[in-house]
Amino acid sequence: MRHYSKPLPTPDRDTLPYWEGCRRHELLMQRCADCGTYIFPPLPMCPACTSMNREWGRVSGRGRIYSWFVVHHATHPDFVDDVPYAVVLVELDEQPGLRLPSNVVECSIEEIEIGMPVEVVFEDVTDEVTLPKFRPVRAQDGS
Ligand code: ZN
Repeated sequence: MRHYSKPLPTPDRDTLPYWEGCRRHELLMQRCADCGTYIFPPLPMCPACTSMNREWGRVSGRGRIYSWFVVHHATHPDFVDDVPYAVVLVELDEQPGLRLPSNVVECSIEEIEIGMPVEVVFEDVTDEVTLPKFRPVRAQDGS
């Protein structure tokens, strides 16, 4: 496993299932066990029905770019080689408003568009941590 020195997420009790899912290359979202509303980021109470009962459900990992911006100045020394890079907000197909911040891979900044269909890919950055990224859904061209 290559060296990775960038800041990494520290899973806590609320986010551990999410990060464990990523390690298995499955995108999990917290979900209200009563009304089925997906909740991200995890909250103590369902914003739709105020239920405290939560479960985790696997989602398709497909969505669309809701918004994005380009980082030109690294705020951490280990990102200096990456700038400029894009940070995107992906709205997952499962639910309007279910949005996940991430990065786009296999795509130049010039290609990014609002509404662009994307799908999740998983990047194993260390033995313990896998990060979800998104790539454009390309037309099936056999390549
Ligand atoms: Zn609910």
